[in-house]
Amino acid sequence: MGEFDLIARYFTRPATKAALGVGDDCALLQPTPGTQLAISCDMLVEGRHFFADVDPFALGHKALAVNLSDLAACGATPLAFTLALALPRADEAWLEAFSRGLLGLADAHGCELIGGDTTQGPLNICITVFGEVPVVDGKSQALLRSGARDGDDIYVSGTLGDARLALEALRGTLILPPALLAQTRQRLEQPTPRVALGQALRGVASAALDLSDGLLGDLQHILQASGVGATLDTAIASNLIAVHTHPALETGIIPSEKQLEYVLAGGDDYELAFTAPASAREAVRTASQQAGTPVTRIGRIEAERGLRLVDANGQPVPNTFSSFDHFA
Ligand code: ADP
Ligand code: MG
Repeated sequence: MGEFDLIARYFTRPATKAALGVGDDCALLQPTPGTQLAISCDMLVEGRHFFADVDPFALGHKALAVNLSDLAACGATPLAFTLALALPRADEAWLEAFSRGLLGLADAHGCELIGGDTTQGPLNICITVFGEVPVVDGKSQALLRSGARDGDDIYVSGTLGDARLALEALRGTLILPPALLAQTRQRLEQPTPRVALGQALRGVASAALDLSDGLLGDLQHILQASGVGATLDTAIASNLIAVHTHPALETGIIPSEKQLEYVLAGGDDYELAFTAPASAREAVRTASQQAGTPVTRIGRIEAERGLRLVDANGQPVPNTFSSFDHFA
């Protein structure tokens, strides 16, 4: 199978939203009048972001999911994406599963594959997504990192730390019961981008971002961009791990001090963290219900710079957690 057969067979589908899709030198996108394009790019590299033996269906899903998560963080509506793919060989079973995982998620979000590049080389997947956000009265409705203000509430969506739990089990640093491994592995390998929640938070959240490297590290980006500080409640946070009621925690299979670490600094969560003024609590609840995605209020923005952790009694908890950094 040659390069062009491969593209035709696995990555070419009729364009419905785009003015022109795969096949020419450029794709053509016609943004809806009164909107801005939101653009983001994420790369997945074998050995760094996934293991060589990962299920190709899950990999196709995840490659697009992490990009859709960026659109979600901005409150953008997905439109289209491009796929730059380096493959060691044209393995048909692999390509069939990969493209099924990729295009299944794409269809679920109405996000069209409109072009890309295909080359032989070490497995590497780079996707650029395009979305749109409305401009109302000359003002972009995009959610940014820079809008958090003193007194705002801090929220996170869904659950945190489950992906890290699976990663530790796959690395062999702890042993999980099979059902628990399957549950957490699903979160690691097939994250759910919170696209509907991001859109529902337009005009409600003051700042937002998606969590890829761990809550504490990622939240710092909001604090820095907004010129503020924050206090987080670790008692609420530690229960954000989906498996917090699982007997494995009681029996010590998962060390209890690790529970909080995985939530605060686990990485690969692809949930949204966002801020909103206290006056918007009802609107946040409505957005969460509309999107069908639970959210939890875990702290508060403060004028004093820095990130502080407290326990249930408001007593300081030392912050010894470090989040992921490719070059640290
Ligand atoms: P060019 O020679 O202009 O770089 P290519 O030969 O690389 O174009 O690609 C031919 C067409 O196939 C283009 O429309 C390109 O966008 C598309 N394409 C290439 N690789 C992929 C891919 N992995 N997924 C989707 N479209 C692709
Ligand atoms: Mg090319």
